[in-house]
Amino acid sequence: MRHTLNDIVIVGAGMAGLHAAEALRENGFDGRITLIGDEPHRPYSRPPLSKEALTGVGMGTAEDGPAPLAGHRALRLRDDAAVDALGLDLRLGARATGLDTRRRRVTVTGTGGTAEEVGYDGLIVASGARARRPDTDLDGVHVLRTLDDAEAVRAALAPGGHAVVVGAGFVGAEVAASARAVGMEVTLVEAAATPLTRVVDPRIGRILTDLHRENGVDVRLGTGVTGFEGHRRVERVRLADGTAIEASLVVAGMGVHLNTEWLRGSGVDLLADGSVACDEYAAASVPNVYAAGDLANWPHPRYGGRLRLEHWTNASEQAEAAARNLLAGEGRTPFAPVPYFWSDQYGMKVQLLGQGAPADRAAFVHGRPEDRKFVAFLGRGGLLTGILGLRSTPRTMRYRPLLERPTPWEEALAAVGGAR
Ligand SMILES: Cc1cc2nc3c(=O)[nH]c(=O)nc-3n(C[C@H](O)[C@H](O)[C@H](O)COP(=O)(O)OP(=O)(O)OC[C@H]3O[C@@H](n4cnc5c(N)ncnc54)[C@H](O)[C@@H]3O)c2cc1C
Repeated sequence: MRHTLNDIVIVGAGMAGLHAAEALRENGFDGRITLIGDEPHRPYSRPPLSKEALTGVGMGTAEDGPAPLAGHRALRLRDDAAVDALGLDLRLGARATGLDTRRRRVTVTGTGGTAEEVGYDGLIVASGARARRPDTDLDGVHVLRTLDDAEAVRAALAPGGHAVVVGAGFVGAEVAASARAVGMEVTLVEAAATPLTRVVDPRIGRILTDLHRENGVDVRLGTGVTGFEGHRRVERVRLADGTAIEASLVVAGMGVHLNTEWLRGSGVDLLADGSVACDEYAAASVPNVYAAGDLANWPHPRYGGRLRLEHWTNASEQAEAAARNLLAGEGRTPFAPVPYFWSDQYGMKVQLLGQGAPADRAAFVHGRPEDRKFVAFLGRGGLLTGILGLRSTPRTMRYRPLLERPTPWEEALAAVGGAR
């Protein structure tokens, strides 16, 4: 049964925010939608920021040097006409700074510092995350989360220079690959013993590390950064093992902080990492408040326990679920996707379906790691839990249905036999 909603506010004009607005319209909501985003730009796509936005490959050419990234066609999430057609009250450069769930009002502060209250009867929280910054004021030390960050990193990439990338997560790995592509020396520093420990099983993490080394990256594992040295500009990165690495540019990929401070004290439950505690419908702890994207934490029925994903596809799928369930009132449907993530490094596509870690077993079911082209199954507790492909898109995606329900490990392997 539908319940009456007239005013829906969405906070965060990124992938989850825009997608929530689109899903509201697709599901027949013709009331007012206020989309509030603190960046000055119309919604844009983050995945290219560490890939083609840095290398220029696939971005088109400009006679007078590279075109600015802001407004670049290749980065727009939708063209202006498609956004306009949604009939939004789009407020850019405006930040949600408080929430009163009793009076159903969001406090919105503009760039000039003036605050106003915006009322709602439905709220979707999609304010995402920001990059964790290293503790230094030196020039030449960057993070990479926003279009403006990417503009600054792109300007600093210079053939022959030395880039030090701190953190070997997927963003760090892609920045390392892009810096190599433009002709820089690259050192990739990771405090953990194997990279990507949170995201993929170490058996896969080691293969991805080898990829960097084959492409000329100096990979330093198991040693953290203790400081950045230089006079106004960074010149060296000091490591915990005492060594120093010359650097003309540093990019830190050290994870994120979730943008949920504005929800503190509102009654919306947050977990220890600052994520919004949602139920299986993407609903927060307060009526008519939903959350989607990087900041949403919810119980996934097939993985036991709660999940929070920093994945592009999850941001759009969860936003769609949040919008649909907010409108539905009763008759809501649980959000139980097959998680999907991809990464592009050295011209190779890595794809992950389901969960890549932790795993207690792994099997290469097509191809071989040494050929840098394979599909691997990952399992836990007797079930198939993840599928990871390198340069194997159709084969990887073909097995997706095996993750839509609990599939015993042996049955999954047998399915490969039948598909060969
Ligand atoms: C460089 C990079 C490369 C990536 N590559 C991939 C990839 O290859 N594959 C993949 O699956 N994923 C990738 N991701 C992850 C993916 O981009 C994110 O999962 C996705 O952007 C999350 O969308 P979101 O809408 O939840 O959050 P965000 O994209 O963070 O959007 C939230 C928006 O809300 C704004 N905001 C924050 N606080 C407030 C506030 N108080 N008021 C108003 N607005 C606010 C933020 O400034 C931001 O514009 C990448 C991410 C980065 C940074």
